[in-house]
Amino acid sequence: MARSESADWRVIGHGGAVRLLSGSMSADRLAHAYLITGAEQVGRKTLALALAMAVNCVAESQQPCGSCGQCDRISRSIHADVRIIDRHTPIRGTAGGDASDEGQDERRARFSIEHIREMQRDGAINAFEGRRHVFILDGAETLRFQDGPATEAANALLKTLEEPPGDVLLILIAPSRSAVPETVASRCQIIDLRPVPAVEIASGLVSLRGASPEEAERVSRLADGKPGRAIDLIEDPAAQGRHSQTVMRVLETIAASLEARFRYARDLSGAYRKDKAAVETELDVWTSVWRDVLLARHGVAQGISNTDWMDTIEAIANQLEPDTIAGVISATRQTSEALVSNAAPQLAFEVMMLALPTMAAGSLPLRAAGEAALSAVESPAG
Ligand SMILES: [Zn+2]
Repeated sequence: MARSESADWRVIGHGGAVRLLSGSMSADRLAHAYLITGAEQVGRKTLALALAMAVNCVAESQQPCGSCGQCDRISRSIHADVRIIDRHTPIRGTAGGDASDEGQDERRARFSIEHIREMQRDGAINAFEGRRHVFILDGAETLRFQDGPATEAANALLKTLEEPPGDVLLILIAPSRSAVPETVASRCQIIDLRPVPAVEIASGLVSLRGASPEEAERVSRLADGKPGRAIDLIEDPAAQGRHSQTVMRVLETIAASLEARFRYARDLSGAYRKDKAAVETELDVWTSVWRDVLLARHGVAQGISNTDWMDTIEAIANQLEPDTIAGVISATRQTSEALVSNAAPQLAFEVMMLALPTMAAGSLPLRAAGEAALSAVESPAG
């Protein structure tokens, strides 16, 4: 059964992907390179690490067991043969001396060719403490430039993809297949992770994170199909406060002037440069609030996520046509997609603001008056 297999791998949802991988493992037909695609926090890295555990686990049955020395060291990121590499990962032996145009570690925009060369050197030696080397390249969309062409690093990676050393398993992580150079993507087996149904998130939070059923149910509705977001909401008390503030901002924007909306768009675009994930979360809240408005418009109270704002959501729903509401939802989705395909952020946010209907502030039961929350856009810490 899908859910129990995911639970065995300690992954929330994604039963199909886990079934595919565990099936390939038992048939000894694991690919040498996977590209795991999907949204931030949907579980891409969790699945990659579960696969790294599965291929190195030494338990007699049920691999990955999650508790043997191999699984334990992988989960604590101290396993010598399993490395997560992103564009900020320091390159050995180049401290302070990385003179390439890729810039220094902390502000590097893309993978450096040195990341790939270092990985190739490490991969050429037999695995040291486990059975297999696993390299997880997080952010494979930065293997190409903003305007499309593949980077030097991508070209260097092709060598590993074409002639992989025997024990190397390569796992690339990216938002979508099209975000990765086609030369790279076409040499990987693609595993596309879709949003996880709220019931599966809730059951995972209870069984894997020890959440109470009530808390799990409430949080899973706010998570927009992303288990990672649900875990944040449960384990980081500040995350729920940030969620509430964002909902307030979304609701207040409906009654805000065009000037205030454009200021909001500018703030979002500034925040996007510093912390993509936080702004993607903000857009998810936009979608969830407007989906709630659509449900309220159709009189479907069950399924509404942001139940704390029920009165405002219903007031908005009662003043708009379903087509208008659906238009806002699709504009928000288009903004998210535009950002993934590297559109100019400020323009993308402005287009979204223009798609919003305008309502008189007096017609909405907003808790905080005025546009105070609009000026409070910031990228949250962590
Ligand atoms: Zn194990």
